[in-house]
Amino acid sequence: MAASDPDCLFCRIVAGDVPADIVRRDERSVAFRDIHPQAPTHILLIPVAHHRDAAALAAEDAHQLAALVTVAAELADAEGIAESGYRLVFNVGEDAGQSVHHTHLHLLGGRSLGWPPG
Ligand code: AMP
Repeated sequence: MAASDPDCLFCRIVAGDVPADIVRRDERSVAFRDIHPQAPTHILLIPVAHHRDAAALAAEDAHQLAALVTVAAELADAEGIAESGYRLVFNVGEDAGQSVHHTHLHLLGGRSLGWPPG
């Protein structure tokens, strides 16, 4: 794990080199609205440090993995979707459609999401 990868889009958002609609930031994580939202609330939560996916983050910094879920729950509350419900998703690897290889947790809500996902 490198602390930062200059070729990584989400590292560049963390650094402020790429603009994003940031809704929360602390020393170890950043949350911003997805550029192609799939629901009324669609926020991405990422660790500041570069880890390629959720499995790598679990192996390298399990506390930070848990902290992302804690922040997601707080943001769900702030977005007014804690009561109605929400979905948390980590896409890992090609078959899941992971397109950015910097761990990110999708927070989705604000409509009925259905199951299984499409
Ligand atoms: P995934 O398919 O799990 O890798 O999710 C990557 C997500 O990043 C997608 O939902 C994209 O819409 C989103 N995304 C890509 N570029 C940006 C960006 N510059 N700002 C915000 N979201 C982005």
